[in-house]
Amino acid sequence: MWEVEVHQKHLVIIGAGPIGLEAAVQASEAGFKVSLFEKSGIAQNIQDWGHVKLFTPFGMNTSSAGMQLLTEAAATLPASDALLSGREFTGVYLKPLADLLRKRIAVHENSQVVAISRGDLLKGEAIGSRASQHPKFRLLVEQNQREFVVSADLIFDCTGVYPHHNWLGTGGIPSPGERCLSKQIEYSLPDLKGPAAKKYHEITTLVVGSGYSAATTICELATIAKQSPGSKIHWATRSTDSQGPISRMDEDQLSGRDELARQANQLATENHDAIQWHRGCVVEHLQPHAGNGNIIATLRSLNEPESESTQIEVGQIIAQVGYRPDRSLHEELQIHECYATSGPIKLAAFLLGEQAADCLSVSACEAETLKNPEPDYYILGSKSYGRNTQFLMQTGYEHITKIIAELVALPSSLSPLV
Ligand SMILES: Cc1cc2nc3c(=O)[nH]c(=O)nc-3n(C[C@H](O)[C@H](O)[C@H](O)COP(=O)(O)OP(=O)(O)OC[C@H]3O[C@@H](n4cnc5c(N)ncnc54)[C@H](O)[C@@H]3O)c2cc1C
Repeated sequence: MWEVEVHQKHLVIIGAGPIGLEAAVQASEAGFKVSLFEKSGIAQNIQDWGHVKLFTPFGMNTSSAGMQLLTEAAATLPASDALLSGREFTGVYLKPLADLLRKRIAVHENSQVVAISRGDLLKGEAIGSRASQHPKFRLLVEQNQREFVVSADLIFDCTGVYPHHNWLGTGGIPSPGERCLSKQIEYSLPDLKGPAAKKYHEITTLVVGSGYSAATTICELATIAKQSPGSKIHWATRSTDSQGPISRMDEDQLSGRDELARQANQLATENHDAIQWHRGCVVEHLQPHAGNGNIIATLRSLNEPESESTQIEVGQIIAQVGYRPDRSLHEELQIHECYATSGPIKLAAFLLGEQAADCLSVSACEAETLKNPEPDYYILGSKSYGRNTQFLMQTGYEHITKIIAELVALPSSLSPLV
């Protein structure tokens, strides 16, 4: 009896990245009426950094439900230990999955969800009683310069965090000058082996950040510097570890990731003609050079506040300072966010409890932890981690399985539709 009612629920999934697609596979199999809205193309965010190699092997980026569907369709799949670029992964797994899904559900590409409300309710209304009232969600969708409203019983927000970047200024706010100079600042991952590389030849580039994206950029800029001796690199990081800017995991199980960190650290710490590491430094100020179109960046030491700040002249800046969730989608809903990560609070607290340095050792939480005060609204995938960077597709797939299982099994999710 419960199943019959589940079948009537309209689930809207927002975002056709790996997690949105996985949710569509599992929910359609469980009998939900599913609509998938994607603001751009399939797995657009991954395609935008598609030249970068994933650090997890193919087998860790797939799910049993996805693999089953593709195997039944006789798709040709790579070995599970294959290390693919984002573009290759999209081509062999995500796009074929989306093509198969189109036969089952409505997939709307170039359709951006702009805002969401809970029926006619305002944000501050029906506090604590929304579960009993259950008005349908109203989603404002923009498609080909046309706007319309879609209604839904359940929503999975799988919109990711890329490309909503953090600011490079100290303390997380834009440094003075940063917003005006945005044309000379790259916040995403430029393909430095492709045509974008031209921009970085024979100039000085400032790289800010000490994650794996910064490591990739530094290694690629070092290759450019070898080819064009006029190319110079300044690397500013908050980290002060004498071993280098990138923290390496003890006995890292992902050899590609460890090798990247090792190489980047070596470039920073060994005397290198083209690279200067500014250890424990933050960007205090950016201003345009009066004469030549360059930028004067002022760096300040975090550990020695009394010391003189350093001024460097650079042609371009690559800010690899992370991404944050776009909260505008759920602004009118009752979402309880963590004040430190901007992710949903229950999951944020769970992740804090895990306290793992390596994303590989973070376990998936139970469905209860993924709930919000707004009933039937789930933030999933990388957005559910907020600014915490430890998200892995593997964990996201497990979360989907747990939620679908609970939605199918629990009478509370099966209350009559309004
Ligand atoms: C360089 C890099 C390397 C990474 N390597 C790995 C790795 O090796 N292994 C791993 O597990 N993870 C890796 N990650 C993390 C990774 O991004 C994710 O695991 C994965 O992409 C998250 O999937 P997602 O579906 O949650 O979000 P995304 O892949 O970001 O997908 C979100 C989708 O939502 C769409 N969207 C956004 N807003 C709207 C809207 N308002 N309306 C409609 N659609 C919208 C976007 O266009 C996009 O298609 C990496 C991340 C980066 C940046």
